[in-house]
Formats: sequence, structure tokens, C-alpha cells
Amino acid sequence: MKSRRMVLGRFSSPLSLESWEVPEPKGEEVIVRVRGAGVCRTDLRIWKGTEAKPGFHLPLVLGHEIAGTVEDFGEAVTGLKKGEGVLVYSAWTDGTCRFCRRGLYNICPHQVIPGQTTDGGFAEHVVVPSHRWLVKLGDVSPVDAAPLADAGTTSMGAVRMTLPYLWVGSVVVVNGIGGIGPYTVQLLKVLAPTSVVVAISRSEVHRELALKAGADHAFSPSEAIEEVRRLSGGEGAAAAIDLVGTEETTKLLSSLISIDGAIVLVGMEGRNVSLPTFETAVWNRKLLGSNYGTMNDMSDVVRLMAEGKLMPFVVRRNLEEANEALLDLDSGRVVGGRQVLTP
Ligand SMILES: [Zn+2]
Ligand SMILES: [Zn+2]
Repeated sequence: MKSRRMVLGRFSSPLSLESWEVPEPKGEEVIVRVRGAGVCRTDLRIWKGTEAKPGFHLPLVLGHEIAGTVEDFGEAVTGLKKGEGVLVYSAWTDGTCRFCRRGLYNICPHQVIPGQTTDGGFAEHVVVPSHRWLVKLGDVSPVDAAPLADAGTTSMGAVRMTLPYLWVGSVVVVNGIGGIGPYTVQLLKVLAPTSVVVAISRSEVHRELALKAGADHAFSPSEAIEEVRRLSGGEGAAAAIDLVGTEETTKLLSSLISIDGAIVLVGMEGRNVSLPTFETAVWNRKLLGSNYGTMNDMSDVVRLMAEGKLMPFVVRRNLEEANEALLDLDSGRVVGGRQVLTP
């Protein structure tokens, strides 16, 4: 079967639309007809050649937020029907390390990631190595669901990490509202309904987006320290999720979290973080790295969307517009949530 995909041949050069032959699926393999492929900042960093992780081999098809319908599968696949909607978990492992044995595929050191270490979803079809990496979508639209494969799952992982630190009525901060933030805000309201969710963004349109997603307040970085202090009665935020991850943002968040408070680090835009040594140690403050989420996190966000408790924030683009989508993401021109290519 002939298919089309956008191929990265050289870092920082435009992706090119190319034709390829989809292989016959073998064993547990599933061919997914991609209906939605989210465009993430990780795609942008890989495209530029600046991602901190080594080992990208070109040519490569980007895209790790993949939803679609089952096109075909190998003889060892069970429980799938052709044509049904599926969401693709994007850390594929062999299940043998100590983290995989606990279901923590997201921190397996041997993971294969579509769009990073193998061809991903900026394509009409993608080869998934096993049906075990799929979550069924039921009636949820694959275009709406695509961002759940990373933005939603990553948010769920990060929000779950904050829960032990929260108290009734505590302030929780989400710093950086773009493609992931609207999901993080919503999941905080679902999993910690008494919390006061404060979004921080430099951009007024993104602050409005956070409020639309259900944030109780949205402030610019320059207002944030004073406002969080006021809203928390002087205690500070019990937890802060940093979706940006630079020296500047961690410095800001370390100035507004409470005693025993936690910064959950998700964004990786900077090379280093900045925390004050004395205040961090003396007040038992924590910095918690949070990479992606588990398959249970992913199936939970799909269920929440199916039940109408998690709204999609999607900006549709054609597959051929992948280059424009990357440039728009880079220049901060995307308004309204996650860009999703619809091959
Ligand atoms: Zn991503
Ligand atoms: Zn492993």
C-alpha cells in the first residue's frame, strides 16, 4: 500500500512530503491510519537539532502524539477490529527493565519513541510494533484525542505527582500555557477539585486560554509572586508544575512555593534550572522531574474525555502544513491549544 508522510531530511530544513510503501504487518504489529498527529515542542527541538537527547538519525518522520483508526494488523494481534479508533502510547519498550516491570515505560532507558527514534505520526500511516501500545478511543474523535497521547498523558503524570503535596484549598501553579497547559489545568480541577489553580503566562491570549480551561486565576510572571502570596494567605503554592523549564522559570517558581512545596518539572526549554540553595534545603522544598506518563494515565485521560470531563483544545492543520505548524509554534503564533495535523 502506498502512503504519504512528511520527512525530516536535514535539521532546520523544511520537511518534505514523500511517498512510501507501508509494509505488511507481522506478528503483533498494527498499521494505524493516522487521523490526528499533534505538533509538540519536542518535534520543534528535534527539527532544529537542539534536543538535548542524543541519537537522532535522519531521515526521520516526526510526531509522537498519534491517534487514528486500525488499518491492518499482524497474525498475533488480539482484541482489535479494523476501523476502530485508537490512541498510540509513545514509549515502546521490551518490558524487561525494573521500571517497565512496574509499568513505568515512560522512564525506561531502552524506549523506542515514534517521531524520535523511529518514524512517527506526521504521516498517513504509522507502524506500531504491538497492539499493547494502543488505547481504544470508543466514540472520542481521533483529532480531539491526538493531544492526549502526550499533552494529556504528560499532564496526568505531572498532576498525579503534585497530589501528595496538596491540602484542601491549596494554591497550585501551572507555569507556561501552550499546547499542554489547558490539559494540566483541567486535570488539576478534576483530581484536586478544592485547589485554587493559578496559571502563569507571559502572553495575554494564553492567560485567557488558561481561564477558558478552568484556571481560577491567570497572571503574568511579574505579578505572580505577589498574587500567589495573597491567594494563599502568605503560605505560597503547595505545588507548581513548570511546563517551560528554564533557569528563569524555576527561579520564579522557587520564589512562590510553600514550605515543603514541590516544583514538578515537565518543560525542557532550558539546559539548567535555578534553585536557591538555602531556601530549598531549609524548607524541605522539592524538585521532581516528570517525564510523560503511564499507559494508565493515558487511558484515564481518554476516559475523562469520553465522559465530557476533559475538553479538547485543538487547532487543526493539514499534513502538508507541518512546516508552517512548526514555524508557528516556534514564533508563539499558535492560539487555542495544540496544533493537530489531520492526514
Ligand atoms: Zn511531546
Ligand atoms: Zn524498560
